[in-house]
Amino acid sequence: MDKTTNSRSDIRVRFAPSPTGYLHIGNARTALFNYLFAKKTKGTLILRIEDTDKERSKKEYEENIIDDLKWIGIQWDEGPDTGGDYGPYRQTERIETYKEFAEKLLKEKKAYYCYCTKEEIEERNRQSQKEKSGYDNKCRNLTEKEAEKHINEGRKPVLRLLVPEKNVVVHDLIRGQVEFDTSLQNDFVIMKSDGTPTYHFAVVIDDLLMKITHVIRGEDHLSNTPKHILIYEALNQPYPQFAHMSMTLGPDRSRLSKRHGATSVRAYREDGYLSEAFFNYISLLGWTTGENREIFSKDELINEFSLERCSKVNAIFDPQKLLWLNGIYIRKEKPLKIFEDSVPFIRQSGILDEVLKEGNEKIEKIIILQQERIKTLKDVPDLMGFFIKEDVEYAKEEIEKFSNEEIKNRFKNLHNEFENIEFRHEILEENVRKFCEQNSLKTSGVFHPLRLAVTGRTKGPGLFETMEVIGKERVLKRIENFISIIEKNDPESKI
Ligand code: GLU
Repeated sequence: MDKTTNSRSDIRVRFAPSPTGYLHIGNARTALFNYLFAKKTKGTLILRIEDTDKERSKKEYEENIIDDLKWIGIQWDEGPDTGGDYGPYRQTERIETYKEFAEKLLKEKKAYYCYCTKEEIEERNRQSQKEKSGYDNKCRNLTEKEAEKHINEGRKPVLRLLVPEKNVVVHDLIRGQVEFDTSLQNDFVIMKSDGTPTYHFAVVIDDLLMKITHVIRGEDHLSNTPKHILIYEALNQPYPQFAHMSMTLGPDRSRLSKRHGATSVRAYREDGYLSEAFFNYISLLGWTTGENREIFSKDELINEFSLERCSKVNAIFDPQKLLWLNGIYIRKEKPLKIFEDSVPFIRQSGILDEVLKEGNEKIEKIIILQQERIKTLKDVPDLMGFFIKEDVEYAKEEIEKFSNEEIKNRFKNLHNEFENIEFRHEILEENVRKFCEQNSLKTSGVFHPLRLAVTGRTKGPGLFETMEVIGKERVLKRIENFISIIEKNDPESKI
């Protein structure tokens, strides 16, 4: 077969979120590693929704997760929305399949019904005070009569896997060989009393039927893996390779949580981060290309990715670094693309119609002037606003500083100058400098109040470039307005 064409490899991986909340940064990282691995190996990425926890799972979370994954730039080949040959891809739509496999194990006596209540198990644990707590495998050898008695009492059984006494070794692609002693492993539940599978059972049946070759997931699942291997073995089926990624920690090295600020992808999206910057940053949490480099395009990341390069050491999520990287991406971006991406934020601030009226040429000029100052897209409405609004507002303390006759007269003279010149930044600068010279004024004594009068701010991009983009008519109007504010504020300045 021609490997240089688009032919797919047999590698199949999955991202399997539980729709019980927004997409967490740690989960986004799992999704990204699966995506990078699938792309690198020309394999297939599957999105599977693990929604068996009926109480906590919500359709709206599923929609949000899908939306956020798409925003990051992760595409999957099979999933609940795209379909595929191994569906359905939502666990609640696969209950009959789990039941069939459960019955098979039951028939083969590799699983058994257990009628014990939680309280009974707890009570027995209390009494025995054995080292090994949890379920004591009591129902393993239940007679038919005993079972019947329990059924007549109206008890609804769970189904437990009969766990053999042997060691389970996980050959983890990131962590190496990890051994588990199953003498510490009780017979665990695979089907709940309501006829739905536990996470462990559903995940194995799905990975098996979806022909998953590599399970790439967080290290928090490593302790579940022996259970999964035991289920595969009971089913006489080969199991996939496992790769457990290190965890994501906050800057203080504790598990990333709300304490560290925003932990959902959605929060960063709503804060105006560029998805490309997010993709770049999250991708490099926990593996390196070996180079001392931090900016990588999506294609470069795909090209460089390998599980061998994933670190066993936990990754530190540093929001400051993400912000820094975001700034770099913003400065690299085409101005009109920044504008396009900022539209939701501009709309939210209520000035979208006014901005659109200015037309693309002007919008582009504004963004070019402000590009360096945009840390996230959320900054854009504020940084654009004073270019396009009819009036600007002034802070009271700033007005106070300039409310005197001298400044007022200076503005009147500048106004006269500006009326008669072409509004190009070189010409503006030349004239204002000349004005300073002629009146023996320090440039700062003129530039500063002029910037305030024209933009309402004390800082910003080049004054004359800004004035050029704001335009003559508006600049003159703002100066007139500023003069009248000075007069109002300091009646003595009125001659
Ligand atoms: N649904 C599980 C979770 O969200 C993932 C299970 C797995 O990857 O095996 O943690």
